[in-house]
Amino acid sequence: MAKVARLIVGFFLVLLGWQVNALAQPSERERIEALYLLSEQNNSEALKQLLAMRPDLGNDTPYEVKRDYLIALMDLQVDSAKMDAVGATIAELLKLANSHKDEVGIVIATAKEASVMDLSGKTNEAIVKLIEIESVAQQTANPEALWRFYSSLGNAQLTVGRFEASLESAFKSLRYAKERPKHASTSYLRALNQMAKVYMAMTNWDKALQVIQEALSLADEAGSSKINGGLYLNQGAIFTSLGRTKAAVDSYERALKIGRKAGLVGLEATSLNNLGDIYLIAKNYPKAEIFAQQAKVKFKEAGELGGVATAQSNLGFALIGQGRVKEGVAEVRSALKYNHDAGAKADEEAILGELGQMYEQAGMFREAVATIREQQALTVQLFRADREKSVATLQEQFDSVQRQKQIELLARENSLKDAEISNQRLQMIVTLLAAIVTVMGGVFVFLLYQRVRRTNLRLREANQKLEFHSVRDPLTGLFNRRSFLELMGRRSIDSTTDRRDDNNPDGLMILDVDHFKSINDTLGHAGGDIVLVEIAKRLRSAVRDTDMVMRWGGEEFLVFSPKANATRLKNLAHRVLVAIGATPMEVGDKTMTVTVTGGFLSLPFSGLSETDCNWEKAMQIADMALYLGKVNGRNRAYGLNRLLVPFEQAMPVLEHDISAALKAGMVELVEVIGPDVNSGAQ
Ligand code: GH3
Ligand code: MG
Ligand code: MG
Repeated sequence: MAKVARLIVGFFLVLLGWQVNALAQPSERERIEALYLLSEQNNSEALKQLLAMRPDLGNDTPYEVKRDYLIALMDLQVDSAKMDAVGATIAELLKLANSHKDEVGIVIATAKEASVMDLSGKTNEAIVKLIEIESVAQQTANPEALWRFYSSLGNAQLTVGRFEASLESAFKSLRYAKERPKHASTSYLRALNQMAKVYMAMTNWDKALQVIQEALSLADEAGSSKINGGLYLNQGAIFTSLGRTKAAVDSYERALKIGRKAGLVGLEATSLNNLGDIYLIAKNYPKAEIFAQQAKVKFKEAGELGGVATAQSNLGFALIGQGRVKEGVAEVRSALKYNHDAGAKADEEAILGELGQMYEQAGMFREAVATIREQQALTVQLFRADREKSVATLQEQFDSVQRQKQIELLARENSLKDAEISNQRLQMIVTLLAAIVTVMGGVFVFLLYQRVRRTNLRLREANQKLEFHSVRDPLTGLFNRRSFLELMGRRSIDSTTDRRDDNNPDGLMILDVDHFKSINDTLGHAGGDIVLVEIAKRLRSAVRDTDMVMRWGGEEFLVFSPKANATRLKNLAHRVLVAIGATPMEVGDKTMTVTVTGGFLSLPFSGLSETDCNWEKAMQIADMALYLGKVNGRNRAYGLNRLLVPFEQAMPVLEHDISAALKAGMVELVEVIGPDVNSGAQ
């Protein structure tokens, strides 16, 4: 059954759909869109009209329209099996997208290029190509690009038998299909179809059938012949594998009808071929002959030489089955030659196996033995070639992942140095093992390759955690003191270029939990920690998104509020006091009201240059304001608005004794009282 599977895969690779996105020039955009809709029903007619429209696109046509034209052209050409023409279209699209630095266009063209490569037997290269642009595809965050990308990747992974990965890609394409602004339902069906294919390859027939039935029940709504045809074709193959021949014939006949009506030559040829195959299995050779003949003609028409060869081998077997051995063998030999020349050893081997069986059935044992020998020789070659190929693929894939990794490495220098070293070591082991594995089989290398990938992933995670912890406080998740020092470090660099903005200074507010020692005494240290986490949460909810909340020390917090004038700062202080003190906190089975006391001021303070009053000095003053709040009853915040006397006079006093400075009328003070709490914090 190898040929059936091959053809179905071949056909569905060309089913990657497309979408038109143009926003400009309604007339051309609408024409492309209309042709797209037409193509769902009659692909060859739509392609003809699309080609006729080409001269209308001139130098003044907007880029998006040209791009969508080429995307449409590329899709319709693939669906009509015009494989030579499609190469040129893809190249043109790539060139255009590159010149406009349009990543969506680049991803779409590359995904299609990879599909075509996969279709023509260059699957490994296709996968490498796709892996290389995966991060670009993700960066676009464009559902169409991503849907196409994962369809293409999933198909290629299926071709090389990486079922799990293929299924994962199919799930992704399913998700992105839903997000597409247009054609969501047709894309969704295509993704379902792809998923069914993977289940088929995994010989999970029940699941495959279930997915196909779901797709078919949705298909009427989408109303696309292309998709319906593909779905019926797959349904037929599933029924065949389940031994439900009559149902299979029915499905293939539906696919055939759609293929004929919609001018989908590939669909038509594949349906005919698969019908022939069913009759071959049922040993109804005359009927098998008729279908194989028709399939051969249609494949020729579509220019699909691989299909022609498959139909020829089926035809040959049908003839041999009817005793027309010489005639039949000639057809089979012709198919063998095609596969041999194309390097399609797996197909060549499968055909030889079947030919051997046919000879045996016909009682031609000498020929049967010779054929089986021929087949065996090829099996050995195939086994060796497979291993070599898998090692080569492995290396290519590894390199590609590695290249991507290197880029990330360059961007971040710290602990990833270790990762680099360990990757290099693993890579050396991979290379070494690759040599051993040519003798021992490809499996281990794949396992190792997966391990390298997993290691990379773990290292990346570890590094992210590390980066997180270097700026975050592990208990509360707030920024830590270090991150604030860094921020202030950058600030002093900035301030040399004089970024002062007296109307919009930044705000600094330092907070200290009231009676935290007794909170600890009552709840235990762990309970105290829970209170700190809750305070952090409430602080974050009270500030603006642009504000930075830090855990300054044990039970002290700091809020840095960029561009906050005096009024804003005062309001912020009020919000903070209310957020923390107004609602009691629940810790285990205890409920407790917790309050804080704060001190705040602006930076630059009172129009002073940061040389006269830098952030450290400002913090010192804020701390003193906080202390004043503690002395005056807690659950409140004090802010210093401005100096009322010259700086030289005020600073020496203020820096040491805020109360004295106040008494002497040197500063203007704001008081913000916290919410009314009956019992206080304790
Ligand atoms: P007040 O601020 O109102 O003057 O009284 P207080 O009890 O809060 O006094 P102070 O701020 O000096 O005490 C802070 C206490 O916080 C001391 C220490 O045991 C406790 N503490 C510091 N860090 C942590 C921590 O991470 N977890 C817990 N549970 N307690 C901490
Ligand atoms: Mg304290
Ligand atoms: Mg305290």
